[in-house]
Amino acid sequence: MKIICIGRNYRAHAAELNNPVPTKPLIFLKPDTSLVRNNKDIYYPEFTQDLHFECELVIRISREGKFIQPDFVHTYVDGIGIGLDLTARDVQSEAKEKGHPWTLAKMFNNSAPVSKFLPPEQFPDLQNVRFRCDINGETRQEGHTSDMIFSVNEIISYVTQFITVKKGDLIFTGTPKGVGPLHIDDHIEGYLEGDKLLDFHVR
Ligand code: MG
Repeated sequence: MKIICIGRNYRAHAAELNNPVPTKPLIFLKPDTSLVRNNKDIYYPEFTQDLHFECELVIRISREGKFIQPDFVHTYVDGIGIGLDLTARDVQSEAKEKGHPWTLAKMFNNSAPVSKFLPPEQFPDLQNVRFRCDINGETRQEGHTSDMIFSVNEIISYVTQFITVKKGDLIFTGTPKGVGPLHIDDHIEGYLEGDKLLDFHVR
């Protein structure tokens, strides 16, 4: 499986990192070695001094598809969850400065903790979903999918013009404002609407 991520999909987050608002979706991938399931604790990587959390709505793909039209995207989705697009911000800043790819900043081992997935029937309108991330009991990110620049349907339709999605692939849909650094022993809790789905520590 693969993890497809979109960057800068919320205006306020693009602004907080001094990035321009994109005119088409900014896409990058994470390999399956990024995945962390079942609320397992994560380990602070030794190659960064600035590990950031980015809490995002995550869509799970149900079957193979390419050139999916926006109106048909929902027929390719079988789960809705949340996850963290963990980012080595110092490594990313260096790459951005040099115009290099974000590979090592975004795609390292265990850089994609994801929750369990809820049935899509619970979310009749994917652009009307609330999620949030608390660090050590304090709410740090509060997202509402109506603030996305590109909707879930637009993202998946766009991506599948280039890349075939397969059953089990995950789509990270971008982070709202409020990203920040993690520290060893931090407690991360993530909520999708009323359900606490993420609950783990940084070790
Ligand atoms: Mg992100």
